[in-house]
Amino acid sequence: MSQIAQDTQIDVSELFQKLKKSQSKYKRTTIEERINTLRKLQMAIVSHKDEVLDALFADFGKPHYESLTSEILSPLNEIEDACKNLSEWAKSTEVSPQVFKDAKTEIIYEPKGTVLIIGPWNFPFYLSISPLIPAIAAGNNVVLKPSEITPHVSAVIKKIIEATFEDDYVTVVEGSVSITTELLKLAFDHIFFTGSPKVGKIVMEAAAKNLTSVTLELGGKSPTIVDETADLDKAVVRIIRGKAINAGQICLAPDYLLIPKELQDAFIEKTESFMKEWFFKDGKWDYTDLSQIVNEANFHRLKGLFDDAVAKGATVAYGGIFNETLRKIHPTILTNVPLDAKIMQEEIFGPLLPVFNYENLEDVIAFVNQFDKPLAYYVFSQNQENIDFLIKNSTSGGVTTNDIMLHCAEISLPFGGVNTSGIGKYHGVFGFLELSNARGILYQPFESEALVLDPPPYTGKVEAVTKAFFSQPE
Ligand code: NAD
Repeated sequence: MSQIAQDTQIDVSELFQKLKKSQSKYKRTTIEERINTLRKLQMAIVSHKDEVLDALFADFGKPHYESLTSEILSPLNEIEDACKNLSEWAKSTEVSPQVFKDAKTEIIYEPKGTVLIIGPWNFPFYLSISPLIPAIAAGNNVVLKPSEITPHVSAVIKKIIEATFEDDYVTVVEGSVSITTELLKLAFDHIFFTGSPKVGKIVMEAAAKNLTSVTLELGGKSPTIVDETADLDKAVVRIIRGKAINAGQICLAPDYLLIPKELQDAFIEKTESFMKEWFFKDGKWDYTDLSQIVNEANFHRLKGLFDDAVAKGATVAYGGIFNETLRKIHPTILTNVPLDAKIMQEEIFGPLLPVFNYENLEDVIAFVNQFDKPLAYYVFSQNQENIDFLIKNSTSGGVTTNDIMLHCAEISLPFGGVNTSGIGKYHGVFGFLELSNARGILYQPFESEALVLDPPPYTGKVEAVTKAFFSQPE
């Protein structure tokens, strides 16, 4: 049985009041002070690196290489970017007035206030720290609630945060859904949630009671399309990697594949040969370099999706090995999957890949657009016209062509979903803006009169306004 993080024994309402009270102190921090704090966080991550790697391994057998690249390097890059660019991002922007020509107009960026960050378990370190970076950059103070499903990581996060921040600046609250439910009742100034669309709705409903703004980083069924011009070897490696890294427990994993029928057999054969290279040692399968499914509930959920698809007529074209003792699932390809199978009704979030065929790109568009708006969209093609057509006639939070997930790691791009896959964007400057209130300021000189605000009596003023604003250009 996997453990869950124990509930922090504190009164969350008292804790919240404490943070609210000290928010003005952090709002006043200079850019230099915020950069120093981020540097301190960067050093704390580096000095606790090995503990983070061990915790990820303890929680779901995540190989150190994957943890280093996907959980530690990314937040370090994001901190570096924020430290380099924060002075620029945070600068007030003077704009030229379009209506009140005598005024001076500018936009200043102030913190949202006291922010609640709720993290998921699938990248439990990265996705707790990553939203914290723009939150600090923008001058907020934060209650951070990591996922209870990965308790070792949650404990290291707490240690790193306590080593870096005053307890009224950033506080970690550990624990179960019941403590998150208590936190969600409080009138935070912003909630940054990463998790499933199902819990995203609970968060948004709770936030609505206080009119708290939200960023929701959710998931969905991200389509992956291979056309006849694709470099198939590279496409197979990259797509199957998306089902093997983190054992496919990635919000951005390719969820299902669309490929012309004549390429399908080659795709499956190549998968088989790459799987042998990756996971076959000394004459037997060796899953050391494959993460575990995070817990029994998720293992059984995935087994259930597989069994249901097979019972409804799907073919196991490759894989289909489930090791319950190790909680490992061999990357698996299913063909002939009927659309009413449960695997096509929800985000898979594991190493199972349903494959469908298409005849032309219109088929692809119709197929993809029958589902909710996805988080990511992948096109493997060397034909720019095909790429443009497929992007233009669909929607998603982001797109990578000829690879997977790179648009998320490229911090110059906004990252997030659209509707069911998320609300709001972050990374780089987009994260700074998401966690800031862009406050528009108009400095009106006393000597100017704004005609539209003239007091009564209104005699003759309709004519004056009509002349000023409604007369036809000469
Ligand atoms: P989850 O929604 O089950 O849990 C996320 C967080 O919500 C956890 O901290 C959990 O404690 C809390 N939570 C769970 N149930 C709750 C409830 N009833 N009330 C209040 N809080 C509750 O998600 P997960 O299983 O941790 O992560 C997987 C999901 O997250 C997938 O859908 C995946 O696509 C999505 N995800 C999205 C992104 C992204 O960046 N868009 C990144 C990672 C994961």
